[in-house]
Amino acid sequence: MSRFLSDRLSALTPYTPGEQPQDFNYVKLNTNESPFEPSPEVIKAINTAEVERLRLYSDPECKKTVKAIADYYGVESKNVVLGNGSDEILAFIFEAFCDKKIGVAYPDISYGFYEVFASRYGIDSKVIPLKEDYSLCADNYCNLNKTVVIANPNAPTGMAIPLFDIEKIAASNPDNVVVIDEAYVDFGGESAVELTKKYDNLIVVQTFSKSRQLAGARLGFAIANEALIADLNTVRFASNPYNINRLTLLAGEAAINDKAYFESTRNKIIENREYTVEELKKRGFTVLDSKTNFVFASHSEKSGAELYNGLKANGVLVRFFNKPRLDRYLRITIGTKEQMNTLLDALDKIL
Ligand code: PMP
Repeated sequence: MSRFLSDRLSALTPYTPGEQPQDFNYVKLNTNESPFEPSPEVIKAINTAEVERLRLYSDPECKKTVKAIADYYGVESKNVVLGNGSDEILAFIFEAFCDKKIGVAYPDISYGFYEVFASRYGIDSKVIPLKEDYSLCADNYCNLNKTVVIANPNAPTGMAIPLFDIEKIAASNPDNVVVIDEAYVDFGGESAVELTKKYDNLIVVQTFSKSRQLAGARLGFAIANEALIADLNTVRFASNPYNINRLTLLAGEAAINDKAYFESTRNKIIENREYTVEELKKRGFTVLDSKTNFVFASHSEKSGAELYNGLKANGVLVRFFNKPRLDRYLRITIGTKEQMNTLLDALDKIL
């Protein structure tokens, strides 16, 4: 740390992203990316003429991409805002709708960035433990008088809560914003987008990183009531009005319009997940009920660290969290069938 860092940030612990090795070709099952390439429509959209147009700024209103997303979800453009990944949208939300006075509540086991944003913006956190079986008790989030942030399905557990629980939480906190992070919803969860028409305090956040093959393009979005979206745009225009680059805008528009490709790749991931769960169970693993593109699994005879290191030595990269309640588990991204078979063969060697 330099002697110049602001006092406000001196205690900040940043987020630790999953490894992105540049020097070795691992079977990469550690950051919940898609194993498939982007839609052919995306590849067509990013052509030489568009690359040449990079000398021009991107559309600060992101009109065409916002409209395509709004049409897809049956809302209006005024209900959608785009972020440089959903991480940026979440940062905007923490900055806009939580402060010292209001505070924020989220589960003890969830996406690690919530804690980082709370710390970055000096927001008091109420961290609510998941139950022993890693399920989330909706009643713990009712009548809280705090901003509520819930990943549904959750990460790294992969488990989902039903829509009526989300509705109960939104209805019981009418004077606070309720944020549902749906990064993984396309793989089996129930989306709360429709509820944003009924509850003016509800924000749904989604991403193109997992089910639309664009993690590297960085595109996320929020859907909510017009006034909440206007607030998020105030923050966006106060930080970086060109937060989405020209190529990403085109890629996002092409990806959302290619519904057939989205559905076929999503279905393959679900199929490979079910196969992987079965095979892991045959090998003595406990696997939580996943509605995502990853599984969270533990083995009675080997610790998470042993399995992680053993897999890495065999060229397979997964995610391991060295934390209480998580350190017996591995989070394994679902890839192609071939990748999952490589994982299973490596596990057979290690066990
Ligand atoms: N929410 C959750 C629950 C996640 O796991 C992730 C991915 N790390 C994100 C949001 C952010 O994804 P992105 O910024 O790529 O949209």
